[in-house]
Amino acid sequence: MPSGEVGFIGLGIMGRPMARNLMKAGYSLTVYDVVGSAIEEVVGDGAKPASSAAEVAAATPTIITMVPDSADSEAAILGDNGVLEGASAGSVVIDMSSIAPASSQKIAAACEAQGVAFLDAPVSGGEPGAISATLAIMVGGKKDVFDAHLGLLEAMGSSIVLCGDYGAGNTTKLANQIMVAANIEAVGEALTLAKKAGLDPNVVFNAVKGGLAGSNVLNAKGPMMIEGDFNPGFRIVLHHKDLNNALLTAKELGVGLPVTSLVQQMIVSLMNEGKGNADHSAIANFIEDMAGVTISGD
Ligand code: NAD
Repeated sequence: MPSGEVGFIGLGIMGRPMARNLMKAGYSLTVYDVVGSAIEEVVGDGAKPASSAAEVAAATPTIITMVPDSADSEAAILGDNGVLEGASAGSVVIDMSSIAPASSQKIAAACEAQGVAFLDAPVSGGEPGAISATLAIMVGGKKDVFDAHLGLLEAMGSSIVLCGDYGAGNTTKLANQIMVAANIEAVGEALTLAKKAGLDPNVVFNAVKGGLAGSNVLNAKGPMMIEGDFNPGFRIVLHHKDLNNALLTAKELGVGLPVTSLVQQMIVSLMNEGKGNADHSAIANFIEDMAGVTISGD
């Protein structure tokens, strides 16, 4: 069993189960979150509490962050009482948050200036993947740092790929989020059409899932639409953040993302309706509203 001291900052839907899996794999954890109750929960499972990100970094040479967006990663790592205030040369910061690639590059440069190694390592697989330690982890950074921390990442994921230098993990994650958003929207359209035509959406789901339209998105999100269960999971506001980062990155690169832009408009409309904390499968609600039916309805 591996052993070692690891710091974990950001104990939300994803961070909590990931921290638990590290403890199960034999690592000793020191943890911090801006929300005290999130710390208490993981301390109940055997982690040591810290009162700031700097305190985590002073206690452990390997620090993982799992916070919502670029501003949060920058606050946790570069900000007052942040990781770089407590870290020593030779430490490593692994930011597993899904943030803008440019922000990962900014954080990497600040880490390097202090002799601290850095990996951006966002994940896909959602809360179920975090719980079962089967996340897909997309990594950006230097190969020697990646190789040295592969075992640690394997305690949280089952597919771990070095995609390129700093920011490449998050560029890959944006590509992932574009595909997921468009696929959820298409599943919503398809099941709404089937429902309005008088078919049983569950029969349609079972009929198509083994064919070319089958996908992990269909398998995970189709049943939620059919049940009308939009408990997160992955919150709409987080997908809004990811598509925003995709559109900003595309603008910088001179790339058009027409379908991504359209789904982002649907997401904005859902947020204005108060559905920001629903699961992103609720993108289907936009299509249901236009059709005047619900996929789950009688
Ligand atoms: P969450 O909102 O449930 O958790 C984030 C946690 O970070 C919260 O507990 C919050 O208090 C804490 N936090 C915020 N700023 C902080 C700071 N400066 N210092 C310390 N703690 C801070 O979000 P989540 O669903 O766990 O997602 C985390 C990241 O993982 C996001 O970037 C998200 O896009 C990504 N992600 C989420 C999923 C999913 O299904 N939930 C799947 C893949 C990737």
